[in-house]
Amino acid sequence: MVIIRTLPEMRAASIVVKRGHRRVALVPTMGALHEGHVALMRRARDGGAAVVVSVYVNPTQFGPHEDFKQYPRDLEADARLCEREGVAAVFAPSDDEMYPGGLQSSVFVEENALARRLEGERRPGHFRGVCTVVAKLFNIVQPDSALFGQKDYQQLKIVQRMVRDLRFPVEIIPVPTVREADGVALSSRNQRLSDAERAQAPVLWKALGITRDLFNQGERNAHQLEAAMSHAVALAPSARLDYAQIADAETLEPVNDAQSGNVALIAAHVGETRLIDNLIL
Ligand code: AMP
Repeated sequence: MVIIRTLPEMRAASIVVKRGHRRVALVPTMGALHEGHVALMRRARDGGAAVVVSVYVNPTQFGPHEDFKQYPRDLEADARLCEREGVAAVFAPSDDEMYPGGLQSSVFVEENALARRLEGERRPGHFRGVCTVVAKLFNIVQPDSALFGQKDYQQLKIVQRMVRDLRFPVEIIPVPTVREADGVALSSRNQRLSDAERAQAPVLWKALGITRDLFNQGERNAHQLEAAMSHAVALAPSARLDYAQIADAETLEPVNDAQSGNVALIAAHVGETRLIDNLIL
């Protein structure tokens, strides 16, 4: 496995793989890798593709009051895990390599429909940063496919839109959310929960489960389903609900009458840490 830091080296490595008639599969990450990322790597390897894992904490997707500085970084441990998983290359570029014109550079990629809702509403500029960095990674790595976790459901849908609208020749492969035994979705941010907070983190998955049960029992009023999620979160003293919404799974527009195939999305702070999760009804 190689660790690549520069754009010319990354491009050259991709060309070599493609000349050998192998596919290149990209797993974009911000590092602090865990079993959720591993699921993406394993799925990426299916069919014999050479797997590139990018590790880059992208400054432009963090708001001014978000956790960019405190975001966990450990490239050595990440590289060891990637090597164990049979990854061909880790691409770990610098900010200069990704933003040659500086972080205020003049070209950004923006999705303007799905990105207005939910996370986009609470985190202005977040998806602009995500789309921009993913577009850059696609241009640099030139992957045949790229893998994204369903844990970040809105991100997955926005990336699919970007690929459709900008005609990127990249197949987007969604991967189901990997969870701890108690239902908590694996996330690099879980490291920041205290023991007491970690004990309350399952409340998001519990709230989604309650909604699913109500739906399966015949409840179709989306506002009732959302209220049930909100009540469930209120029972955890360290948790503060940000949103709980039933939405169309493609447009992410809120629905009044829930249907099979809609998505339930939830975001909450547990202590200072913001967690998100979702479930397809
Ligand atoms: P991140 O490093 O948090 O930006 O995540 C990189 C990729 O891994 C994204 O596509 C995430 O959706 C995916 N991912 C993160 N956590 C999980 C998880 N628990 N299960 C599946 N995919 C995940």
